[in-house]
Amino acid sequence: MINKNISCNVKDCKYHAQTENYCTLNSIQIVNHTTPATTKESTDCASFEKK
Ligand code: SF4
Repeated sequence: MINKNISCNVKDCKYHAQTENYCTLNSIQIVNHTTPATTKESTDCASFEKK
């Protein structure tokens, strides 16, 4: 089910709604990609899974 509280553009993820730019999970885990995080790129969606 589309979760309109989690906007996401990563269509390569198996949890992406595809028809609209939202996630279908109830919640997601966001983690550091690098520590300390200093830019947007320093953060990641750890709930991502390849389609
Ligand atoms: S799990 Fe993360 S990357 Fe995948 S659709 Fe949801 S928010 Fe986007």
